[in-house]
Amino acid sequence: MTPAPRLEIDLDAIQQNTSVLVARLADRGIEVAGVTKVALGSPEVAGALLRGGVSSLGDSRIENIETMRDAHVTARMMLIRSPMLSQVVRVVAYADVSFNTELDVIRALSSAARAAGRMHGVVLMIELGDLREGILPRDLEYAVRETLRLPNILLEGIGSNLACRNGVVPDARNMGELSDLADSIDATFALRLAVVSGGNSANLAWALSGADTGRVNHLRLGEALLLGRETLHRQPIVGLRTDAFTLVAEVIESKRKPTRPWGEIAQTAFGAQPAPIDRGDISQVIVALGQQDTDPNGLRAPAGIEILGASSDHLVADTGVAHLPVGAEIDFQLDYSALLRAMTSPFVTKVVQARIGAIHAQGF
Ligand SMILES: *Cc1c(COP(=O)(O)O)cnc(C)c1O
Repeated sequence: MTPAPRLEIDLDAIQQNTSVLVARLADRGIEVAGVTKVALGSPEVAGALLRGGVSSLGDSRIENIETMRDAHVTARMMLIRSPMLSQVVRVVAYADVSFNTELDVIRALSSAARAAGRMHGVVLMIELGDLREGILPRDLEYAVRETLRLPNILLEGIGSNLACRNGVVPDARNMGELSDLADSIDATFALRLAVVSGGNSANLAWALSGADTGRVNHLRLGEALLLGRETLHRQPIVGLRTDAFTLVAEVIESKRKPTRPWGEIAQTAFGAQPAPIDRGDISQVIVALGQQDTDPNGLRAPAGIEILGASSDHLVADTGVAHLPVGAEIDFQLDYSALLRAMTSPFVTKVVQARIGAIHAQGF
């Protein structure tokens, strides 16, 4: 029996999405790091991104980078979250480059790299208004000067990240500021920053708008490659597939039931105050899927099926005119949040489908 719930991963779709975006961005002088964090550093997903033409892989967790290295994924690996001080030894051992905002961390990376007899690349992240990670522009010159002094550290470039915490849109103004900072660092220190990493999937509209991309020559893309959507409005990107991931789950109860609960009403399992509806009797199914497998709010059911709610282990749906017997399977599409949780859940079997329809379950 095929296990359920299972997350089916179509590697061809991921590779195809990647080649399309890599080619479109190459026309703008921009290369792509494929971001693997939502896939927990899956070596198969990493392989599809690399076949699609990314120039490096990025992940926010050193554990995922270790997974890929241990699986012999050969690529330049970037840790795109500032390293924990407690992890610098692992970071210099496994990542070629890390993104940094704290001199104390870069100093610790320098010591660790020196002890390991290695060089470690550093990209300095700059705060451009989204108020997540970044050195304030006025502090950049000092950070560069200190970084350049450190043995076994190679200053590779600068970068920024927008649209994640406050939804700040990458545009000509903030990307122009990043370019100008690159120029001014080059001039001040008589060097040439190799990498100017503009941002993530939210940068695509700007990068492909035809506007001048200036010094920005690098983007870090996860969601756009894997789910085929831009992330400012979550619209599908023309020419990309949005169905690379499918979550398949099994019906465990199927009955005609009323929609209106009876008895005194208080909080639900997750603390919500339900607003009872009454639309008469429906074909209600329970799917063996819940908060411990995925983010039920991020699922899209097939046409004709409506998700009514979910607790830890039960997802309740109205199947409309269809009758789905016990044992039937339902295919759900996932948003980033649902995908992240499904990938992370030990209850969801990951099934990787490669070219020529080969299917195998993956034990991670
Ligand atoms: C997650 C992440 C990305 C990738 O973001 P997507 O929206 O998935 O493209 C890029 N950069 C950083 C710093 C990140 O944390």
